[in-house]
Amino acid sequence: MKCIKIQVKGIVQGVGFRPFVYKLALDNSLFGWVNNDDRGVNIVLEGDNFSIEKFITCLKNSPPPLAKIDSIETQNLEIQNFYSFEIVKSVSTSNKLTMISPDIAICDDCIADIKDKTNFRFNYALTNCTNCGPRYSIIDKVPYDRCNTSMAKFSMCDKCESEYKNPLDRRYHAQPISCENCGPKIALYDKQNSLLVEDYEAIAELAEYIKDGFIVAIKGMGGFHIVCDATNTKSIELLRQRKNRPTKPFAVMFKDIKQLKKYARVTKKEEEIILSKEKPIVLGKTNFKLSANIAPNIHRLGCFIAYTPLHLLLFENLDNPIVATSANLSGEPIIRFKDEIISKLSGVVDFILDFDRDIINACDDSVVQLINNDLQVLRNARGYAPKSIKMHKKIDKKILALGANQKSTIALAFDDNLILSPHIGDLDSITSVEYFERTIDTFKRFYDFKPDIIVCDKHPNYESTKWAKNQGIELVQIQHHYAHMLSCMAEYKLEEKVLAFCFDGTGFGDDGNIWGGEVFLGDKNSYERIYHFDYFKLLGSSLAIKEPRRVALSFLFENFTLDEVLNLDNASVKSFNENEIKIMYQVWTKSLNSPLTSSCGRIFDAISSLSDICHYQSYEGESGLMMEKVYNGDIKEYYDYKITDSKIYFKNAIKDIVKDKKSDIIVSKFINTLVNIIKDISNEYKNLPIVLSGGVFQNKTLLELILKELKNRKVYSNKTIPLNDGGIALGQLYSLI
Ligand SMILES: [Zn+2]
Ligand SMILES: [Zn+2]
Repeated sequence: MKCIKIQVKGIVQGVGFRPFVYKLALDNSLFGWVNNDDRGVNIVLEGDNFSIEKFITCLKNSPPPLAKIDSIETQNLEIQNFYSFEIVKSVSTSNKLTMISPDIAICDDCIADIKDKTNFRFNYALTNCTNCGPRYSIIDKVPYDRCNTSMAKFSMCDKCESEYKNPLDRRYHAQPISCENCGPKIALYDKQNSLLVEDYEAIAELAEYIKDGFIVAIKGMGGFHIVCDATNTKSIELLRQRKNRPTKPFAVMFKDIKQLKKYARVTKKEEEIILSKEKPIVLGKTNFKLSANIAPNIHRLGCFIAYTPLHLLLFENLDNPIVATSANLSGEPIIRFKDEIISKLSGVVDFILDFDRDIINACDDSVVQLINNDLQVLRNARGYAPKSIKMHKKIDKKILALGANQKSTIALAFDDNLILSPHIGDLDSITSVEYFERTIDTFKRFYDFKPDIIVCDKHPNYESTKWAKNQGIELVQIQHHYAHMLSCMAEYKLEEKVLAFCFDGTGFGDDGNIWGGEVFLGDKNSYERIYHFDYFKLLGSSLAIKEPRRVALSFLFENFTLDEVLNLDNASVKSFNENEIKIMYQVWTKSLNSPLTSSCGRIFDAISSLSDICHYQSYEGESGLMMEKVYNGDIKEYYDYKITDSKIYFKNAIKDIVKDKKSDIIVSKFINTLVNIIKDISNEYKNLPIVLSGGVFQNKTLLELILKELKNRKVYSNKTIPLNDGGIALGQLYSLI
């Protein structure tokens, strides 16, 4: 006989942990108790050695599906002669260290409940249990109890309450537990805010409107979606017009994997991720059988399947897949409230399906892709975020990191934890900056967190930098691309010296120029910029980001005289008239509004225009996606380049590119060239691990080729932490710990 105390930390609350412990103790004839406190779950067990060992093994190896155990500590106690096992009341200490669980897609048991005519939750659109449903999006403060969530205003009916109180029930202490009698209600409104119909009928009627070609808004787990029939070209065209979104691809939600496979080809591994409990949007490489205007000019499709009971019930009434895109005004965060849909999007949507369980914390859908069958999270949100990383050592100070300006996220460090927030979005509007500030407040509240140090980007005009400077707290600024390198090092907890390729769009450089094609040698403490793409002029500054042809022209001016450029038989040149080119030449020679940059993302843009693929882009990354479509793996040639004097010279290749003319040849040779450049530099540093980070490596074709070439080396690239600017906050943190 012995008595021990077990302390479990991690995501162990609101995930059915105590009932799991309760059942496990009963199964092993152990006595004692279990409770929650702000630090995690405490268990006291009394029984024979063998049963206690068995209990601990099972605790470690098969915890409840949503639990994430960070640590288990045990300690021997005096025998106390318990005669039962009990779940005792939660205690509150002052340290709020319990991790907040992300929102999770509906589980199979709940799917069965809503489809079972004899179940009292038949057709109830807000069904959930301890294994599924909302968490992060409904929590106001910790501990995670119903009174601290947006379910506080609903009192349970007798049936729900008896489940809630029964430790052997799947809904024991499921905080958002509800049914049609006691829970939030579904309601359909028109865009004048008139109530049309409630409950299940609202969903059935909405399905009819979607079939008729209307565009609607549907409240989801962490925000509203704008939805229309994904097989109706006219509806999609109308949505594009109303949203002023000419080509940016829409994600498509399918009823289930069976329906998805009717329309798009996915790999086995992609299917696995689509079906995972997180149910993210998977960016598949596929030729899909849906309206071409869902994802014009590219061969990638963002697919996901219904992940809430509401979506599933909608599909009971609808045979076609739906376009489901985050409801927002361009540049603003995802909308959480019906009234905001009406005030901002009544020109876009015709009907609104709402319910009265408030979304306290907005959360977009996560977006992922597979690189050589490994997950690469491009947008860290629903299902994955907040993301916590356990460090091996304690961090002395409390640190708040503010991320970048695009794909903003924030991150916190305290004790031995690093926490990364969900995707906030681009900080280009007042409402986005408000959302950014609200997220900081939320995370401070959740973790009882007051920063000792703030860390932000070096860019003087980033909203986050401006915010940081107003806080009156010690401030550290970290170079953008160094933070990219560190984001990857943080994910793998790397401490050693690495060779890092940080290729992305744009970031503020130490010399005041715009960096974006950087090769670093460094570790957590410092870095040396050993190579960068030779600077070129960004004609028209931010305008050049929207017009790849401007970057192309800049490269042409470096290699040809004005007369030669005017006489070139090239698509970039033809996209301008003669006068425009003459003016641009003046702009270029006098360096008017033409900052110097080493950006690899912009070089991609230039090539996309020179190869007549994309002269204007309407969303970030469009040119790269279009180039991936024409890449031909049979073409093995590459362009001339020079690596010398800490610079990578690529401009001489422009003369050959102009001669090559055919899009697939130019694109393939260009991507091969980048692979060679990375291989050559890596060969100079044979003993160092290689880090690949920055938005350019979202290019699946490029990254897979590089990984193949470097298969004998230790290569790290971000997987669960976005390698785009969404990972910057975590990298910033890592520099200080
Ligand atoms: Zn469930
Ligand atoms: Zn009820």
